[in-house]
Amino acid sequence: RRLKELACHDPLSGLRNRRGFEQALAEEVERIRRYGSSASVILVDIDDFKRVNERHGHDVGDEMIQAVGHRLEALARNTDIVGRIGGDEFMVLAVETTMENGLQLAERIRESFQEALGDVAGGELYVSISCGVAAVTPTRIELKDLVADASDGLAIAKGLGKNTVSTSRVSTS
Ligand code: GH3
Ligand code: MG
Repeated sequence: RRLKELACHDPLSGLRNRRGFEQALAEEVERIRRYGSSASVILVDIDDFKRVNERHGHDVGDEMIQAVGHRLEALARNTDIVGRIGGDEFMVLAVETTMENGLQLAERIRESFQEALGDVAGGELYVSISCGVAAVTPTRIELKDLVADASDGLAIAKGLGKNTVSTSRVSTS
């Protein structure tokens, strides 16, 4: 069991890693299929994180990753699933949500970063994040497809100057 847990969790943030997130997504997809419910995913990427590492060092960068993870968990509902799926990339699976709800949650997440990260460097560090939002639909259930869809939105958000929430298409579901 311990080995399984290690394989599915990111030791730095304590969140699910990509593999753990994918497993939780698969379980949720079962529910979506069975009950016809909907869900959305929010891909969260720290803006200019390389600069944080350069300016403050890798250890502070690590603390920032932990703090961002905590903040996402605090903002998500208990039933939502939060994972660290890459270096400075996190994903929130917002269960029982429409694309509209997902965009609203992403906007709340983005706004929350107007507050300093209390548990990093004595509460003096600020960072912004950008989000790409995508809908989980019957044809878009695989993590790779959802990451691709949300990444398209994220690229738009970064292109608009970062600290932005975007989606690449308007969901019809
Ligand atoms: P952008 O605004 O476009 O997202 O730019 P960025 O500087 O955040 O660049 P990007 O997201 O492409 O790169 C993420 C960086 O995160 C690259 C790597 O140096 C750093 N990184 C990845 N994993 C870790 C980690 O575990 N700890 C620390 N401290 N840094 C990490
Ligand atoms: Mg980044």
